[in-house]
Amino acid sequence: MIKDIEKMLMSEQEIKNMIKKLGEQISNDYIGRTPVMICILKGGFIFLSDLVRNISTNVEVDFMSLSSYGDSTKSSGVVKIKKDIDVDISGRDVIIVEDIVDSGLTLDYINSYFVKHKPSSIKICALLDKPNAHKINIKIDYVGFEVGNEFVVGYGLDFAQKYRNLPYIGVLKKEIYS
Ligand code: 5GP
Repeated sequence: MIKDIEKMLMSEQEIKNMIKKLGEQISNDYIGRTPVMICILKGGFIFLSDLVRNISTNVEVDFMSLSSYGDSTKSSGVVKIKKDIDVDISGRDVIIVEDIVDSGLTLDYINSYFVKHKPSSIKICALLDKPNAHKINIKIDYVGFEVGNEFVVGYGLDFAQKYRNLPYIGVLKKEIYS
């Protein structure tokens, strides 16, 4: 599997340290409250599961699944809900947990969709952000790491459903997807 990876960007230990800090930050921001953390599947599942174990306030979790890139590495810009949330978020504090923000179109769609349900607040938490790739103005409240415009895999992120189980985050060799 390692032969498909061009370079490692974040090691297992670096991810662990970052998650601990992020967990502390969220715990401090939500003292006495019970936010609903909504994980965007599938890429966010490992991030969410490590993150919630580093949060000391009560949290609820829920999951949403959207149409993704398929086996390509370019955003189609088309977002479709494949699995909606089960929890009623009206009047609740919501934290959207996303694997990576590229153009920002996916998050923009989710955000507008959730706003209609009248939550008391919405914050965005992303494991990775590609700030140079944003096509719209989007505020990400909690960011794990910033990355360049490279295609990354590992720690939940896939290419054609592979590499999600890598414990680190790395850049995929171009020859794998081109
Ligand atoms: P956006 O709508 O922000 O352009 O795209 C966000 C989604 O595209 C992410 O949730 C993820 O599924 C996918 N994506 C964007 N960049 C990458 C990347 O570098 N690696 C992987 N594996 N997925 C990506």
